[in-house]
Amino acid sequence: MNTEIIKHNPFESMLDRFNKAADLLHVSDVLRQKLQTPEKIVKVNFDIELDNGQLKSFEGFRVVHSTVLGPSKGGIRYNTCVNLDEVKALAAWMTWKTAVNGIPFGGAKGGVICNPLDYSKAELERITRAYTSKLAHVFGPDKDVPAPDMGTGADEMGWLMDEFSKIHGKKMPGVVTGKHLKHGGSVGRVEATGRGVSIITLLALEHMKINPMGAKVAIQGFGNVGMYTALFLYEKGMKIVAVSDVNTALCNIYGLNIPELIVYYNENKSFAGYTKANVIQHEELLELPVDVLIPAAMENAITDENAGNIKAMLIVEVANGPVSSDADIILKSNHVLVVPDVLANAGGVTVSYFEWLQNSLNQKWDVAQVNFRMEQVLQKSFHEVFSTAELYTISPRIAAYVIALDRVAKKTEEQMGMDTVAGLQLNTLK
Ligand code: NAD
Repeated sequence: MNTEIIKHNPFESMLDRFNKAADLLHVSDVLRQKLQTPEKIVKVNFDIELDNGQLKSFEGFRVVHSTVLGPSKGGIRYNTCVNLDEVKALAAWMTWKTAVNGIPFGGAKGGVICNPLDYSKAELERITRAYTSKLAHVFGPDKDVPAPDMGTGADEMGWLMDEFSKIHGKKMPGVVTGKHLKHGGSVGRVEATGRGVSIITLLALEHMKINPMGAKVAIQGFGNVGMYTALFLYEKGMKIVAVSDVNTALCNIYGLNIPELIVYYNENKSFAGYTKANVIQHEELLELPVDVLIPAAMENAITDENAGNIKAMLIVEVANGPVSSDADIILKSNHVLVVPDVLANAGGVTVSYFEWLQNSLNQKWDVAQVNFRMEQVLQKSFHEVFSTAELYTISPRIAAYVIALDRVAKKTEEQMGMDTVAGLQLNTLK
């Protein structure tokens, strides 16, 4: 077996942080085992007919990690790298993310092993409908509520909702979030994760007493989240000096004109041919002399192999799990502050919750209301995480895990009547 894969297994990285927080909270072995084990793991296989008439088989997953705090919530990823350990880690991160942000959901995640760029829109619709019909017994507005993730967006969520509604014989918009507005989506959801990242980045810079005006930023990944993050930080006066997608990394040390670059990228579906920046190596982007580094693509962008070369003072984890647990140690000793994924990218799940609420209450909020409420949630979470980190002299990541674990563990004990288990020690957490 490839030791690199084992070393940077995202589920192992999640467990490593989980155990650090569980040690601090003196969580019993019984409870620890329960909290780290997914409630449900479903593997599905299905065939669809391609546009050329041939049949093609696909494999997919849905992992429900926890429903302790509410219906499980988490995106669906279409990517060739999707595998069970990745989905298990992503599902657990959703549990900690909703818990740390005080959102009454649990955690789940799903995925299909495929490259969405290889398929037509009609084929993607058939893939999504087939995946949904295999998982119709798992999903439900009060059971398990999917959302977009890498390789999926509002179209896939609309097909999922339609297929699920057909199977259940009635329209059920609340089964999924991240839908188009015409299907019951929320204003502000598409850009919510990026907007949330900009709020959290500015709070972190303020905490570090760094002026955001002109501060240099490098962003890996230019999909839904990376693109909006770049735009909102540019609008706040920050200098975005480098961006990348899976094919190309671009750099302009004087700062990229992000609105112009977005128009170019959307027209060409690529950075190729953009003349106002230099093409650099992908690894170089992560190691540029910038103030803020934003990995917004995949897990394990920063590991023990490159963590020592990072020059940014602040890393804002926009992807889920972009920093491996062995890299945490190197970054800490180099005084690089890492804002963890469960806090940094929580704008998306927060507005997903608002969408789900609007669906169940049959309401429509305006964009000012959505953005204002999201900002309130994120500001509260940021202050809770950073004050806990300072109080116990732990990293913001472990502080976020401690807060989340404390909430999920207490509720689990309550639900199971586990009064024999040793009580949590950090009861002073506000
Ligand atoms: P997306 O599919 O819209 O975009 C992914 C981007 O990453 C693309 O630009 C792709 O080209 C790029 N990419 C992939 N591999 C790369 C590599 N090796 N180097 C550089 N770029 C690479 O996905 P997204 O929705 O923007 O999600 C990105 C990350 O953010 C994922 O980790 C996802 O789990 C996380 N996230 C997304 C949301 C959301 O609301 N969409 C919310 C929270 C977290």
